[in-house]
Amino acid sequence: MKVITTIDEVRDQVKSWRNNGESIGLVPTMGYLHEGHQSLMASAKKDNQRVIVTIFVNPMQFGPKEDLASYPRDLERDKKACQQMGVDLIFWPSADEMYDANFNSYVNVNGLTDALCGKKRPGHFKGVCTVVTKLFNITQPDRAYFGQKDAQQLAVIQRMVQDLNIPIEIIGCPIVRESDGLAKSSRNSYLSEQERLAAICLYRSIEQAKQMIKAGEKSVATILKAMQNVINNEPLAKIDYIEFVDFATLTNVDVLKQDSLCALAVYIGKTRLIDNFIYHH
Ligand code: AMP
Repeated sequence: MKVITTIDEVRDQVKSWRNNGESIGLVPTMGYLHEGHQSLMASAKKDNQRVIVTIFVNPMQFGPKEDLASYPRDLERDKKACQQMGVDLIFWPSADEMYDANFNSYVNVNGLTDALCGKKRPGHFKGVCTVVTKLFNITQPDRAYFGQKDAQQLAVIQRMVQDLNIPIEIIGCPIVRESDGLAKSSRNSYLSEQERLAAICLYRSIEQAKQMIKAGEKSVATILKAMQNVINNEPLAKIDYIEFVDFATLTNVDVLKQDSLCALAVYIGKTRLIDNFIYHH
């Protein structure tokens, strides 16, 4: 497995794979890898002859008051996680390698990025779409793998490749959870022992919603109320948002329908966690 820090070297490697007719799967990450990331690598490995993992904590997608400086980083640990999954190449660029001093081009997906996290994190998806486009152009994969954990990101990227005719197949992968249901996340490492216990309330609220839906409830207002109750009962938790939207358009739905996305963001202490589920009949 190679660890490469420059764009030129990635291009050379990709060219030689392409010359051999080998297919390439891309898994973009911010590192501090866990089994969620590894499930994406496993899918990429299954579908492609070569797998590239990128590890880049992208400054452009962090707001001025967000956790860019404290975001967890551990390349040695990440190397092992990638090696375990049979990854061929890690691209681990510096911010200077990705953004030169005169950098001035951006990719914006409108509409979809006004909803959910986009409302709470202005500029976030502009940063995501710009860096993902760059990573696509640098690695030129056949397929790229994204987790449903970041459901809005998945919807936005799918829109972007369709709108801009980017010839890459986007594969969405299911959420990987801890044994108590907490969605795996690099940011879980911020949680104290007490906060880690409190963090289960996100999944509990999802379970509550699913139970009501199973019993026939279709009113989004009624389901939201019950979810809010679950989270408000946890003293360390503070709701940022809970919403039901159509997964394709991300516009709000009042009555549950096929492919409704229920997405939530909740502060546990200072740590902002997200989770979601998509409703299918
Ligand atoms: P991140 O490093 O947090 O930017 O995540 C990189 C990719 O891994 C994104 O496509 C995420 O959606 C995906 N991912 C993160 N956590 C999980 C998880 N628990 N289950 C599935 N995919 C995940």
